[in-house]
Amino acid sequence: MTGGPSKLSCAEFQAQMPELIGLGKDAATHPHVQSCELCRALLADLETIAEAARELFPSVEPPDEVWEHIDSAIKREQADGIEPGLTPHRQ
Ligand SMILES: [Zn+2]
Repeated sequence: MTGGPSKLSCAEFQAQMPELIGLGKDAATHPHVQSCELCRALLADLETIAEAARELFPSVEPPDEVWEHIDSAIKREQADGIEPGLTPHRQ
């Protein structure tokens, strides 16, 4: 036995947290968050990450520019001759 049925452990709550957020529920109003500073901080972190992800990837498809940017960056490094042994050859 670990505590009463009304008290979730942090691990139990954290396992439910992504689901709560995914369902669009306000996890901040959860009784565990109200009484647990640790999970309140964790929730704030998670929401910041979720918000940043939405801003970075507003659409499902990754923008072509990103891949072009990465591709040109790799080519530039190869041209400079930095660590030629570590970059895979592309023909
Ligand atoms: Zn907690």
